Amino acid sequence: MTNVLHECDVLVAGGGNAALCAAISARRSGAAVMMLDSAPRALRGGNARHSRNFRIAHDEPSPWIQGRYPAGDYWSDLQGVAGSAVDETLAHLLIGESAGILGWMIGNGVRFQSADDDALPYSRKTAFFLGGGKALVNALYATAEGLGVVVRHDSEVRAFHPADGLTAVTVLRDGRKETIRAGAVVVATGGFQADGDWLRDRWGEAADGFVIRGTPHATGRPLKALLESGADPVGASGLCHMVAVDGRSPGFDGGIVTRLDGVAYGIVVDRNGRRFADEGEHVGPTRFSVWGDRVARCPGAVAFSIFDTAIERGFRPSIFPAVRAASIGGLAAELGMLPAVLESTVAAFNAAVRAGGHTEGILPAKTRLAAPVAVPPFGAYPMRAGVTSTCLGVRVDCKARVLRSDGQPLGGIFAAGVIMAPNILGHGYLAGSAMTIGSVFGRIAGREAAAHARR
Ligand SMILES: Cc1cc2nc3c(=O)[nH]c(=O)nc-3n(C[C@H](O)[C@H](O)[C@H](O)COP(=O)(O)OP(=O)(O)OC[C@H]3O[C@@H](n4cnc5c(N)ncnc54)[C@H](O)[C@@H]3O)c2cc1C
Repeated sequence: MTNVLHECDVLVAGGGNAALCAAISARRSGAAVMMLDSAPRALRGGNARHSRNFRIAHDEPSPWIQGRYPAGDYWSDLQGVAGSAVDETLAHLLIGESAGILGWMIGNGVRFQSADDDALPYSRKTAFFLGGGKALVNALYATAEGLGVVVRHDSEVRAFHPADGLTAVTVLRDGRKETIRAGAVVVATGGFQADGDWLRDRWGEAADGFVIRGTPHATGRPLKALLESGADPVGASGLCHMVAVDGRSPGFDGGIVTRLDGVAYGIVVDRNGRRFADEGEHVGPTRFSVWGDRVARCPGAVAFSIFDTAIERGFRPSIFPAVRAASIGGLAAELGMLPAVLESTVAAFNAAVRAGGHTEGILPAKTRLAAPVAVPPFGAYPMRAGVTSTCLGVRVDCKARVLRSDGQPLGGIFAAGVIMAPNILGHGYLAGSAMTIGSVFGRIAGREAAAHARR
């Protein structure tokens, strides 16, 4: 049975960083705000719980960020990864507003790590949350609730029905359907990576091998509802931001520690024991995401990082123990491969290694960090694709209003965070920019939704 429970000025769907920023912004703009999150309280915060920094433009050093990162540099970095898929107007809005978002977050209780702290890697591009993403989430919830935002967990937003200037939102709570009417709605429910069927629809059986690095609640139901209501899609439903993780990671919420660091140092083989890519091509931060996508496209969406005792000294180990054996044939048997195939792969690779760390006469070549896999005992880590988020969203304008395909706003519906991030990052990934997109557009969406509700 459906019953109308409530009316509010601004309803925020979601419980992560983007939703929190929207709820606080709307409340500070004078609106009565209700925030609905499908996750239980213990899992509040979405993927922000796992995050550690965000990327901001700044012209001089501050206590929280070193050096300078002019807007022009930010724009070049963004263009480098997003290519033609970037909406320039929104990207420049993001970069311009990023300069002020650090102060706004501090004003709302978030604390940042000191830039002088030796515990941090040098970064002129990103500021790090003191205590990590969980501390950020706790601070923003404390601020939101202190300001009077009504927060409800275990409340799944399922559909939007614009009517009479208000939007009726269907919610499932404790197995019951409720309807809440709001003057404006901000949708900040992330991607659809936690919906296995939707992923399978795009990736086939490979999706069964994917690991979801964050919340199990990003099922994309509100995204689907918006698209069915006529919202213009942006991005691509068949693309994901993913990194290579240890294949033994939990199916959800493994977080950042499951990433595999040392892939570039040894060799990588598929489940049949054959190399398939240049392991030395990416040795910087991009190596994580490049290998996520490569592994996703392997047979069974699985691969193996293989190394020897000498190579292993060069990289940080996985949080899971390596599979070990005294011989390559023994390692193959442990991994379920034909020993002769892996032995032949390793022998051919070792014979091709040249001084200077590259190979000759072998395909695929290894262009950097090539060293023989020769010193027993040998080790391996199983690799899987760890999905951070999907790359399909809804088109928005500079007020974060959701747009229909004719360019007109879709009633009083706004969007923030990953659900609109493909406007700016259709594909590719720029470290720290996801949290900036959620913070900047959450702030804009909340303010604009409050103004819309007042009309
Ligand atoms: C391991 C890991 C590390 C990361 N590190 C960084 C980093 O250091 N820097 C960075 O910039 N980014 C990082 N990211 C990405 C970043 O965390 C996310 O892009 C960002 O938190 C997304 O915020 P969001 O609010 O848009 O969506 P999400 O965090 O996905 O939140 C979605 C929210 O909506 C709720 N929800 C979903 N469906 C419904 C529904 N039907 N009804 C009601 N509520 C619903 C969920 O419960 C959740 O609370 C990382 C991600 C992961 C997984």
